[in-house]
Amino acid sequence: MAAPTDTFDDVLPEVLRFTSPTPLVDIGANLTHESFARDLPAVLARARAANVTTLILTGTDREHAEQAVTMARRHPGLFATAGVHPHDASRWNPALERAMRDLHRQPEVVAVGECGLDFNRNFSTPAEQERAFEAQLGLAVESGKPLFIHERDAGRRMREMLHAWRDDIADAVVHCFTAERETLFGYRDLGLHIGLTGWLCDERRGHHLRELVGEIPLDRLMVETDCPYLLPRNLPAKLKGRRHEPALLPWIVREIAHWRGMEEAELARTTTATALAFFRLPADETRPATQHEES
Ligand SMILES: [Zn+2]
Repeated sequence: MAAPTDTFDDVLPEVLRFTSPTPLVDIGANLTHESFARDLPAVLARARAANVTTLILTGTDREHAEQAVTMARRHPGLFATAGVHPHDASRWNPALERAMRDLHRQPEVVAVGECGLDFNRNFSTPAEQERAFEAQLGLAVESGKPLFIHERDAGRRMREMLHAWRDDIADAVVHCFTAERETLFGYRDLGLHIGLTGWLCDERRGHHLRELVGEIPLDRLMVETDCPYLLPRNLPAKLKGRRHEPALLPWIVREIAHWRGMEEAELARTTTATALAFFRLPADETRPATQHEES
């Protein structure tokens, strides 16, 4: 860990330091992104100071999932997912499937994913995406671990595929939900969990979400930064470098609570309880812990 004097350098100005009244779980943190390579200990210290005590690191391909597992072994309160993002679905092959199966056996890996469908950009063809996603649905059944799903502009096909697998898979969360009412109601009928990011803090494109946020069952809602992406637009000050980080999660909780018309502390408490149950983490993960920190 960095010395306290290094922790709050000039990265996060005083006005952006906001401590959640209740411990939070950031279910989507891309901390293996190169932008965190230089100052990870300070990023983790700022998260803890903001009472964001548990971080689920998103593993979007083999390399990043392995890095996430290594980070989770080194730092208390960190866990990993392991999957192949739909953008990279064209790279799916039997060797990659074996590597993923091995990763899912690691105790630090708490979900299968990020996997899913993204018909917005189609960096891999829809057929390649469906093949890789189908295979990872199978891996989720094998491992018994929950799914961490990415879906963009593919709500209908996602619902069809999940419908066919619903009885066999454990829980699943659609992370960074940004879709329309029909898709949300379909996911609700399938008993899925929903992850919300700072997307609804964006007055340009988050409008429809503000009206929908109350339709998400409270016991199926979780919160995430998706950092370093999606810096919330409701922050009261500019952030140098515009890199999003877990310490800013309380600002997202504040915005969601506002649009749901509920207390921030209550939203923090319930989303944390939901996340701990979903990823099957012990409740004491939200307390400062040292027992599994490497010396
Ligand atoms: Zn995603």
